[in-house]
Amino acid sequence: MDTMKALVKTQRAPGLELKRVPIPDVGARDALVRVMATSICGTDYHIYSWDVWSQDRINPPLIAGHEFAGEVIEVGRDVTHIQVGDHVSAETHIVCHHCAQCQLGAFHLCANTEIIGVDIDGAFAEYVAIPAENLWPNDPELDPGIASSQEPLGNAVHTAFDGPVAAQRIAVTGCGPIGLMSVAVLKKCGAQQIIATEVNAFRLNLARRMGADVVINPLEEDVVSTVMELTDGGGVDGVLEMSGNPQAINQGVKMLRPGGRISLLGVPAENEVTLDLSNDVIFKGLKVNGIAGRKMWETWRNVRGLLAAGLDISPIITHTLPLEEFEKGMELMASGNSGKIILTL
Ligand code: NAD
Ligand code: ZN
Repeated sequence: MDTMKALVKTQRAPGLELKRVPIPDVGARDALVRVMATSICGTDYHIYSWDVWSQDRINPPLIAGHEFAGEVIEVGRDVTHIQVGDHVSAETHIVCHHCAQCQLGAFHLCANTEIIGVDIDGAFAEYVAIPAENLWPNDPELDPGIASSQEPLGNAVHTAFDGPVAAQRIAVTGCGPIGLMSVAVLKKCGAQQIIATEVNAFRLNLARRMGADVVINPLEEDVVSTVMELTDGGGVDGVLEMSGNPQAINQGVKMLRPGGRISLLGVPAENEVTLDLSNDVIFKGLKVNGIAGRKMWETWRNVRGLLAAGLDISPIITHTLPLEEFEKGMELMASGNSGKIILTL
């Protein structure tokens, strides 16, 4: 049997194992993709470090990884719209098409979502098999690292486009890779003022480079009063919450003008967060929206359009390593002194 190298969660314990495993079978509606680049997401780090979430969710053995770009080398017999040789990335949420949300066209909210690299084998491997309907054709000229990063870029675009952007004053709380991407999107789309908050100096510098007009370190400055001064006492029109940190979420609702919007992408580690709902949300008439995944396929079309219009996220890709050096990549992730980390094959 033909084999491939892959990063496999072999045991219910920290770490991933680089080993040879069989090349996956290709079902009638699947495509087999030769992976050229795959990027490390926070989820992969959770699986690698074997935190409480992954202990609950992950059933080894599992090939981790879900963000990727590659070339189709085989298609199942029922696949018509994707051809061998196509360059592709993928929507990582596999949806059921039958639940209420799918019937309503809100596929990103499917009740039966399966995620590659979480529920089924993923892309930290030479080859990945995936339903062909999940594939997104790429311009073959697109750099594989950027192509792989379209999935998190989609999170950033979905969050940014949850409300008005052009001519708005918008704050981004948390400048991990997705927050940084959202700063770049806001800049490209003509935001009037972009304020970024982040506790890590390396990432604050990157936020400035990506177009933030002002960067604030909450460990050094009072975020809310600084934002109020910057906005003549009025507050920002929108907040993109990209940290999941309860303090940042509270600062987000407090720094908004009445009637503003906060789009929540960051996932709090403890789930429950305390807010002064009366004063900071209800009487301010805020629009509070949860953001899950990427709209299929509206967000992907927007990502393609932004890249075609010249959106440049390349400075956010701070490290490119061979797959074999995944442990170094995970350490860099943990340090916070990184943007997006790409593994190449
Ligand atoms: P990340 O963990 O790299 O980024 C979070 C950043 O927030 C870090 O740089 C951290 O230093 C910063 N931060 C921590 N406390 C802060 C504070 N008090 N104020 C300001 N910044 C603070 O994660 P990422 O990959 O960029 O993803 C961003 C968030 O989105 C994460 O919480 C992730 O779990 C979540 N996420 C959600 C979805 C979804 O579908 N809703 C999808 C992908 C990621
Ligand atoms: Zn569904």
